[in-house]
Amino acid sequence: MGTILATVAGALSWSAAEYGLHRFAMHEMRGKGLASREHLSHHADVTYFSPTSKKLLSAATTTAVVLPAAWALRGRRTAVAYTTGMLAMYATYEVLHRRAHTHPPRNAYGRWLRRSHFHHHFGSPMRNHGVTSPVWDVVARTYDDPGVVTVPRRMAPTWMLDPDGELLPAYAGDYLLKGRRRLDDTDRSRDRDDAFANRAPVPA
Ligand SMILES: [Zn+2]
Ligand SMILES: [Zn+2]
Repeated sequence: MGTILATVAGALSWSAAEYGLHRFAMHEMRGKGLASREHLSHHADVTYFSPTSKKLLSAATTTAVVLPAAWALRGRRTAVAYTTGMLAMYATYEVLHRRAHTHPPRNAYGRWLRRSHFHHHFGSPMRNHGVTSPVWDVVARTYDDPGVVTVPRRMAPTWMLDPDGELLPAYAGDYLLKGRRRLDDTDRSRDRDDAFANRAPVPA
């Protein structure tokens, strides 16, 4: 296999893994296992992201499994290209996911990614598992067109808010804010229960 083809195959493998891991290892597991617990904690509190050390560790573990296996099957050059493609897409996913929560969109793709991912967070946690692409959701029939996404005000990313905490006019066609701004302990524990049961947070 040419190295370019192997790199593309690696990238596509990540894309499928992004869907599969997110849906089956994180949401379907409802908090069983580290990956699920970490991810559902991010749903309970959208400002929470797993520490980079844990992510590097899981990337290193995956590499330690995938690289020798591909090497044995297809030789060194192809194995290195395949693994590189996979890791590059994984890194891209990490950056794009984090930025979706922390930075405003800069183009049509970024706008789609945010609406789709926030529909997953705030509308239907068992839909739109793909973050960087809708391909596998379409294949598995778990894709929703996000439409106008209702965001609980207490969970709204700061990039969509004006200094008074209201939705910036630029995003009026994409989002609707609902509920109170402040979070109390009741909200916190209810948000955690909802996240671990794959229920959307209540916009109270
Ligand atoms: Zn997220
Ligand atoms: Zn999720």
